Amino acid sequence: MGARKTAEVHPLPIPLLVHIVNEWGDAPRIEAHEGTKPYPTAESLRAESPEFWAHFPPFDERTLVETANLIHPIFAATTGRQCAEHLNQLILEAEMSPALSSEAWAVHEVWHTARPDRALLAGAVLSLVDHLRHEPDASRLGTCEGDACVDVYVDQSPAGRRQYCSLTCQNRSRTRAYRANRRTVAQS
Ligand SMILES: [Zn+2]
Repeated sequence: MGARKTAEVHPLPIPLLVHIVNEWGDAPRIEAHEGTKPYPTAESLRAESPEFWAHFPPFDERTLVETANLIHPIFAATTGRQCAEHLNQLILEAEMSPALSSEAWAVHEVWHTARPDRALLAGAVLSLVDHLRHEPDASRLGTCEGDACVDVYVDQSPAGRRQYCSLTCQNRSRTRAYRANRRTVAQS
C-alpha cells in the first residue's frame, strides 16, 4: 500500500456543531418550512472564527449540508445502540482512526482521517465521541419536541429532562398546552 495522505481531526466545539446541524440540515429546515430558503453561506460561518477554521481545508455549503444531514440522525436516535451504530458508521465513512502522539513525556490521543475532504464530518464525529466520553448518556443528545421544529440540542441540565432546542420553542409549547387545557375545561 502506498502512503496515504491523512489529516489530523479537529473536533468542533459542541455549540458550533449544533449550529451547523440546525442551519444547514435538511430535516430542521424542512420541519421549520424553511426548506426553500437559501442556505447561509459557508463564508459566513468561517468569518465567525477564522482561526479555528484555518485547521480545515476549504469547504462549501454542500459539504455543510451533507455533514449536517449525516449528523442529525445521531441526535434523533431513539436508543443508545442506534446512536453508537450511527457513529460507528460515520467513523468508517470518514475513514477515521485514533493514534497516540507525544510531546516530551506527555502522550495523548489524536484522531486522523484518511479523507481530508471529509475533515468537517470527521470533526463533527470526534466532537460527539469526545462528548460521550465525558457524558455517556446519549439520551442527552436530542431533537426539539416543539411544533415545526426538529432542531438538535445537547442537554446539559442537571436533571437531563430537556425537550426543546430553545426557550422560544419551550414557551410556545407551554402556551399551546395551557390554551388546549383551558378549552377542555371550558367544554366540560
Ligand atoms: Zn425547537
